[in-house]
Amino acid sequence: MAVSLVDLVKHGYSGDDVPDDDLLRACVHCGMCLPTCPTYRLTGQEASSPRGRLWLMKSVADGRLDLLDPEFDEQMYQCLNCRACEAVCPSGVHYGPLVEAARSQLEQHRPRPLWQRVRRRAGLNFPFSRVSRMRAMVNGLRLYQRVGLSAALRKTGVLRLVRLETLEAMLPPIQEAPLVSGKESWNPPLVEDRIDLFNGCVMSTVFSNVNRATGRVLAHNNVATAVPATQQCCGALHVHSGMMDEARKLARINIDAFAGDGVSPIIVTAAGCGAALKEYGFLLKDDPNYADRAARFSGRVQDVTEYLAARDLVPPTHDVRATVTYQEPCHLAHAQRIIAQPRKLLAQVPGLEITEMKESSLCCGSAGIYNIIRKRMADDLGDRKAENVVATRADCVVTANPGCHMQLRTSLKRNGSEMPVRHIVEILDEAYGGPVVGSKATNA
Ligand code: SF4
Ligand code: SF4
Repeated sequence: MAVSLVDLVKHGYSGDDVPDDDLLRACVHCGMCLPTCPTYRLTGQEASSPRGRLWLMKSVADGRLDLLDPEFDEQMYQCLNCRACEAVCPSGVHYGPLVEAARSQLEQHRPRPLWQRVRRRAGLNFPFSRVSRMRAMVNGLRLYQRVGLSAALRKTGVLRLVRLETLEAMLPPIQEAPLVSGKESWNPPLVEDRIDLFNGCVMSTVFSNVNRATGRVLAHNNVATAVPATQQCCGALHVHSGMMDEARKLARINIDAFAGDGVSPIIVTAAGCGAALKEYGFLLKDDPNYADRAARFSGRVQDVTEYLAARDLVPPTHDVRATVTYQEPCHLAHAQRIIAQPRKLLAQVPGLEITEMKESSLCCGSAGIYNIIRKRMADDLGDRKAENVVATRADCVVTANPGCHMQLRTSLKRNGSEMPVRHIVEILDEAYGGPVVGSKATNA
């Protein structure tokens, strides 16, 4: 068979978001990252390791491998982007932005079939690009849970038929109505500091109870909380999926929404959102109108555990008689290097016992939408996590990210455990006895 010139020319990187060559060169192939990598631990394959993936990225950069080679695509998307490799790398390889740029290259240059483009637009871009759409969807789901349709539909098998069974099983009971940005604030009688809460899309809807608990816990600590209107989703899922233009649009909207006094800490209750917001400076580094503002915005962002642990907590007043184990979200432990703070806060709750699980910082398999699009590997990691959680015999598992929350809950159930999953802030809120006396939670 004749080989055409086109077949001989390899597709390389081009256009926006080319993986940074200096970052790629930083890898010295020492292999220290291999034991921390969940996909390498499951497969034992060099190509499924951080070092292997960096080699593939460099091969495309050097013209030795075609960007459209199926193995490249497979490995860039098999990676969980958990960043465990980054946290242990002695050469400081900044792996997250590299794999995100590689995915962006694939999305720019690889032709996708129409059905895949429609699915991405409908499943990812449509609900996560406008928080009002997410709110409408979650309001519908809340009603669906309340009228008991969930159990009925599961019995009939309709959910399996329309391939929504996995998604439906992941959804926790939605406890409260969505927290609409700009509509509520918390103002304690004595104000020592003021923060702006990043409300998020999943946190403000499915987990609005956690964001309201955050307002109360901060009020107990003499911190006033505002929830700036017009903020949107952080764009983390878009970045992870190589949809950089959509992510940049959301970043600009959020930077404008939080312009305010320009200095108040921006407090985040979801580890994945926090990691994305802290990288707006990098995401918009080539935008002349936003580069400086993005860097300043990122400098204000703090996870709620990071912020609270840095203050002297007002001592909680109520015993929480339970044993908890802490599951470290990857984007808190690895991407933001926040490890001690959640434990420090839990240790200050009277009556609470903390028991450490094995491999608490190994990815649970959630990883954005990984547990939907790569179900088998996500389930393997989820089962491993459930086994480690159950072995602690704790009453409850605590975490700080909505994706981990849903994945833990589903994995525990699949493994026959009804152990509850809670956000750290919910434990603190309980330890303060809920609403602060004399504090005003206002509906603006
Ligand atoms: S630890 Fe860092 S330098 Fe060593 S192989 Fe992994 S990425 Fe490369
Ligand atoms: S980000 Fe996680 S899954 Fe991906 S290579 Fe690094 S350790 Fe492995």
